Amino acid sequence: MAVSKRLLLARASMVARGLCSGLELGSARGFASEQEQQQQQLLLPLQRSPEGRNHQWVFLGCPGVGKGTYASRLSSLIGVPHIATGDLVRDELAASGPLSSQLAEIVNQGKLVPDEIVMDLLSKRLEAREAKGETGFILDGFPRTVRQAEILEGVTDIDLVVNLKLREEALLAKCLGRRICSQCGGNYNIASIDIKGENGQPGMYMAPLLPPPQCASKMITRSDDTEEVVKERLRIYNELTKPVEDFYRQRGKLLEFDLPGGIPESWPKLLQALNLGDNDDKRSAAA
Ligand code: AMP
Repeated sequence: MAVSKRLLLARASMVARGLCSGLELGSARGFASEQEQQQQQLLLPLQRSPEGRNHQWVFLGCPGVGKGTYASRLSSLIGVPHIATGDLVRDELAASGPLSSQLAEIVNQGKLVPDEIVMDLLSKRLEAREAKGETGFILDGFPRTVRQAEILEGVTDIDLVVNLKLREEALLAKCLGRRICSQCGGNYNIASIDIKGENGQPGMYMAPLLPPPQCASKMITRSDDTEEVVKERLRIYNELTKPVEDFYRQRGKLLEFDLPGGIPESWPKLLQALNLGDNDDKRSAAA
């Protein structure tokens, strides 16, 4: 079947599953001439509830940047589900269904899963969300190609796209240091990143995020977090996902956020950038 036909079917499947129910179809927001104005515009959706619905945000950023960490914290804070397509792919892999071996090969090479598979997994997750009475979302790991972004834009209105950025030297180390508790699913990182300041660039320290004692003996590493595969994932990000930043920049939806360090430094600043700085939950979430 031609790719475009499959994509149309995937899109139809998203529509049929209710992704766009009650939502306005995608409409590009106006461009602001100044970057500052543009960022201000971006924050408007945070101060109102567009069409009375919950926030629909996307997190972009290279592998290892911390999308999962910050998206998950924000989802608890603003009360919308955090939906990571990487998790959906891993769940499908673990279920050992008919797609498993095909997916394992793709993921373990650091390549992207075909659009129609990932869209189908996402559609099912969104359907489950509706059944649970959840609304809104923070998408993490989707869209990863301009084509995915176009399809998403065609079925629903994304309010805000947060582009998390971290110095390249830290990304590989962060991926290689990632650990997951096989029992509770908690995410940790054993990497201690200490980049010395040079040539006018400030240094950067990111402390490890160590597991609590009950998880320490149950740490596992993702099969695609090897040096070779991470390098390929970074290459693919630059080739296929970086253009998605432009896609949203041109639509005035992209909020750039340079992570200044680890969670203690970055989390309060991110909340500030999102105009959530005065929220009481900030203090407990930052702890
Ligand atoms: P992540 O946990 O986001 O790093 O995703 C793990 C892997 O799942 C990726 O390397 C891809 O193989 C696959 N994957 C996740 N999201 C997508 C997507 N939107 N499009 C294609 N493949 C994806």
